[in-house]
Amino acid sequence: MSLVRSADFLAVEQLAIDNMTKAPKPKPDPGQAGGFLLNGSAAKAGLNKSILDAGWGVFLRVLAYKAESAGRELIAVNPRNTSRTCPAPECGHVSRESRRTQADFLCVKCGYTANADVVGASNIKRAGLVLRDARAA
Ligand SMILES: [Zn+2]
Repeated sequence: MSLVRSADFLAVEQLAIDNMTKAPKPKPDPGQAGGFLLNGSAAKAGLNKSILDAGWGVFLRVLAYKAESAGRELIAVNPRNTSRTCPAPECGHVSRESRRTQADFLCVKCGYTANADVVGASNIKRAGLVLRDARAA
């Protein structure tokens, strides 16, 4: 899987599995502040077949397996405000109003604008890097 090979670590939103499938709560990782251990939630999530059938759950399960076997880190981040936080340097303003539509992000404070998915992804990446640094420290 080239996605796994090309990355030192991968960050995903915890939301995708746990909230949508009502799978077991993530296990807090005692070794890192705010981190989570993989808890096998995808494997147990026959609980909600429709979500897994929808593809994202299957993707995450495969990703977790591939990352582990390749010795890569897969970091699940708290999804809170990932779509509402301005990623512009020295801004970081959090507002629901900045997420104007499903596709568009326009920061109500600084005017930064970008595709909303790109904003979400960059916030997830940044949160994942923070968790990884905390783990390494
Ligand atoms: Zn901003």
